[in-house]
Formats: sequence, C-alpha cells, structure tokens
Amino acid sequence: MADKAPAAGSLPQGCDVIVVGGGLVGLSSAWHLAKRGLSVCLLERDYCGRHSSGVNAGGVRTMGRHEAEIPLALASRDDIWRVGQEVVGQDLGFVSCGQLQVLETDQDVQNAQQRVQQLASLGYHHEVMISQEEVRALVPAMAPHVRGGIWVEGDGHAWPYGAVMAFYQAAQAAGVHIHENHCVTQVRQRGSNWVVSARGQTFTAPALVNAAGAWAGQLAQQLGDPVPVTADGLMLMVTQRTASFLSPVLGGSSRPLSLKQFANGTVVIGGGLRCQPNLTDRVADVDLLSLAPSAHTVRSLFPHLAQLPVAHAWGGVEAFLPDGIPVLGPSRNDAHVIHAFGFSAHGFELGPIAGRIVSELLCDGTSRLPIAPFSVGRFF
Ligand SMILES: Cc1cc2nc3c(=O)[nH]c(=O)nc-3n(C[C@H](O)[C@H](O)[C@H](O)COP(=O)(O)OP(=O)(O)OC[C@H]3O[C@@H](n4cnc5c(N)ncnc54)[C@H](O)[C@@H]3O)c2cc1C
Repeated sequence: MADKAPAAGSLPQGCDVIVVGGGLVGLSSAWHLAKRGLSVCLLERDYCGRHSSGVNAGGVRTMGRHEAEIPLALASRDDIWRVGQEVVGQDLGFVSCGQLQVLETDQDVQNAQQRVQQLASLGYHHEVMISQEEVRALVPAMAPHVRGGIWVEGDGHAWPYGAVMAFYQAAQAAGVHIHENHCVTQVRQRGSNWVVSARGQTFTAPALVNAAGAWAGQLAQQLGDPVPVTADGLMLMVTQRTASFLSPVLGGSSRPLSLKQFANGTVVIGGGLRCQPNLTDRVADVDLLSLAPSAHTVRSLFPHLAQLPVAHAWGGVEAFLPDGIPVLGPSRNDAHVIHAFGFSAHGFELGPIAGRIVSELLCDGTSRLPIAPFSVGRFF
C-alpha cells in the first residue's frame, strides 16, 4: 500500500484506506493505520462517539471474558489503556481501580472457583478468588451476605466520550481525514478499488474497514458477507452524588450488575439492561420499568443507598452476534476489506486493540494476536 500521508487541509477523495464508522473501533483503526503511514479517510454518519462508544458504562474489564477474547483484552488494557499518554499521545482517562465480581451464593462461589481453575489451566492468572474478609476490606460498605469475590487488580474504567475524543484527536494529528455527517450509502468494487458513496460524494481506496457498529450488518451484506448481527438497546442510570463508598468497579455473578462510583460521587449502574432499539432513528429509548431490578440489586448490596435518587438514565444501540464475540478479520471475498464489529456489550475495552489488529491485517497481512475465533467465516 502507498506510503504517503494526505496534505493537511485537503479533502482526499482517494486514499489508502476508508474506515466506515467513527466509534472507538473505527477511530482506533484509523489512528493505527495512519501511524503505519497510510492515508486514511474516516466516514461517520452522525458525529464520532454518538453511539455505543460514547455512551457506554466505561468499564475497562478483562474479567469474565470469553476465552478467545482474553489475549486481546489483556493486550488492550496493558499495551494501550494503561499507557495511553505514552502510546497514543493523549490521556485516555483510564482509572486503574480494579474490578470485583461479587459472589452472593454458594453456587456463585463454586462457579467462580471452576472459572478461575479453568483459566489457570489455560495459563491465565489475572482473575483471582478472594475471601469474604478481603471483599470487605476492599469495599467496607458491602452487605454482609456477600461470600467472596473474583478480583482483577489491573482493570478499571474510563470516561467513554473522553476516550473517543482522545482517539479522534490522535487520528486527526496523524493525518486522518474525518468526515462526520457522512452516511455511507453504497459500496462497490471498481478494479482493485472500493468506491464508497456518502453524502453525494465518492471516496475510493483499495482497502476498507467496516466498523459501523450496530449498522455493520448492512455493509457486510453489501460486501458479500451476510452476518447474523443484530442490534439491541442497552441502558444505564446514574445517581446523584453521594459520599465516597466504592473504589473498584463491581460486577455481578448470578444477578446482572455493573456498578462504579466516579470521583465526583455519582454512581453509574448498568449490567446488560436491555431496551428496544430503533435503528432508523438510531436511538434506544429508556424503559424505566426494566431498570428497577438493577436498582433493587444495588440496594441489596448497599442498603445505605436506598434513598439515593437516580438523576438520569439513557440508552445506546449496540451490535450483538449470536456467540457474543465480535467479527474481527478480513472479508471472505477480499483480504483488503476488514470487518470489526459485533462487540456484544463489551467492546469499549477492546476498541483500542481492535484498531491495532485492523492495522496489522492491512499492513502486515496478519495479526500478532490470535483472531481465528473472530473470523467472519464462522457463520458460513
Ligand atoms: C449502555 C452501554 C453500556 C456499555 N458498557 C460497556 C462497558 O462498560 N465496557 C465495555 O467494554 N463495553 C461496553 N459497552 C459496549 C461498547 O460500548 C461497544 O461494544 C463499543 O463501543 C462498540 O464500538 P464500535 O466502534 O464498534 O461501535 P459504535 O460506537 O456504535 O460506532 C459505530 C459507528 O458507525 C457509524 N455508522 C454506522 N453506519 C454507518 C454508515 N452507513 N456510514 C457512516 N457511519 C456509520 C455509527 O454512526 C457509529 O458512530 C456498552 C454499550 C452500551 C450501549
């Protein structure tokens, strides 16, 4: 591929790579590609970070990952999130406060022991069992019925929109041309080039990245890879400020839960809370009744929060694949087309490494990390 960067201020209709989608995955891909010397044009239908990447819970979690995702999750956290300023040249806002999975029943403890042993047999030791006393030392306000936990020391959280903007600025500084309010409506092949139509303009490049999140299925279909990707709404709620009581990020075991307290005292509550998405209007409306079970879980773990008012709730549209892991790899039809979508509610943490993998596939023809389980071919 050509080894050139576009002149500052120009609007290249032709470039080395077109990235569709300005979420964390698209921006990270664009930045990594530009760092490798390619000219990159990123097309985003709304504004960058408008969807999942900018509205999620900010969990940077290697805990509880599907086996295939573990090497990627560890590399994303250790090679990029933890050293954002050094590597990306921007503060990604990562707070390394640890992640604690709460074990509330004997069955939870038994399942957790099996999980930790299974990981150890695969050579992974980042998830460790901790006792009831250790849980209490980490989170003194926790209800006494909690029997123990799984602890991951290096996990944490970041501010989603801030992280998106960090990659946006890094990409721009590296020469990426970012076109917001540019909806890709058609993609076709002309010779060795891909011709992409967006907002009445035509962009051409020999390589294409499909990072269109919940809308990636339409593009994949046009590219000859009809993947069973579906969209669903995910909700979060945030409380008013309260005195500091929680340092690590909490996750549930038998009950869905994701809970963290930010430095300003607000508490963000989630845990896979689903609502109906509207793909045409590109929104996911909050379903207040479905938030109630999560609020109940939080109250039972932290009775002192019973009267804490919820200040705000919101939803975002996310892409899900049937096996819960993304498609990350080349199209079946052209090695210069890379799919990176379907992160199934946990792609914020993986976004930075997904971009590095995309750049390796296009620049080196292979990825340093194992990505065979994410092949688009698994659905055919
Ligand atoms: C409420 C919520 C909580 C979450 N919590 C966490 C968490 O704590 N930790 C975690 O790891 N993950 C979490 N996730 C999941 C995570 O946010 C996503 O997996 C990740 O952000 C996906 O990034 P993406 O770049 O693939 O998609 P997106 O951020 O959705 O970006 C895709 C972009 O493509 C654009 N696009 C689509 N079609 C076109 C087109 N035709 N032309 C041009 N542009 C197009 C869209 O406008 C969009 O901006 C959560 C998600 C939600 C919704």
